[in-house]
Amino acid sequence: MGHPRSKPKSHAKNRPSVRSGTPDPTNPKRVAAILEKLDEAYPNATCELKHANPFQLVISTILSAQCTDVRVNQVTETLYKKYPDAKSFAYANPSELEQEIRPTGFFRNKTKSIIGASKEIVEKFGGEVPRTMDEMLTLPGVARKTANVVLGTAYRIASGVVVDTHVQRLANRLELTRNEDPKKIEQDLMKILPQDKWIQFSHQLIWHGRRVCVARKPRCMECNLETLCRARDKTI
Ligand code: SF4
Repeated sequence: MGHPRSKPKSHAKNRPSVRSGTPDPTNPKRVAAILEKLDEAYPNATCELKHANPFQLVISTILSAQCTDVRVNQVTETLYKKYPDAKSFAYANPSELEQEIRPTGFFRNKTKSIIGASKEIVEKFGGEVPRTMDEMLTLPGVARKTANVVLGTAYRIASGVVVDTHVQRLANRLELTRNEDPKKIEQDLMKILPQDKWIQFSHQLIWHGRRVCVARKPRCMECNLETLCRARDKTI
């Protein structure tokens, strides 16, 4: 039985909460304007982790936790020559692999995840990276962020929005969410963005976060979103 005072469902009800007395910053017109500006600035934004196939993207994304893409690419350049497929990672010597991926940090946990995920891919999925979120989430060390990166970039399947540290910061600065928890931010973004923009939007926000809207002292003078942005830490 519904609550006697509950209101009818509406799109607005699902949007992130906003400061009272101000226009809703997640209204479709403003969101469309932000998407347009991002398309203008970053028409070719894409994943910066080098990979030749979906499996390599799983491994690179696991390695990218708390590490730059540049460092991951340096490590994987030789790593993928020694371990060319899921089978070779699945039955790798753990202490050797630990040393090989050491420069990416958290190498013990990452080794466990890489070997665990590779074994699962070989033994349960016939050596192919699965194509659904539910199956991806059964792989050891793979959470929604990694699953979204792989499904979106390697398979072009939009099953969610990648929320990394840049998306987390910029979604808040642009008032597209008021949450800090990546899972809640993802839910907020999925409600206000058209699904056919989910993949490209996170690539573009990550590029913007790396190049212009950096964590400390964002380069607002160079930002084409400036007129749409009311971030408290704007530098102009
Ligand atoms: S105006 Fe500044 S804070 Fe706002 S999105 Fe641009 S760089 Fe980031």
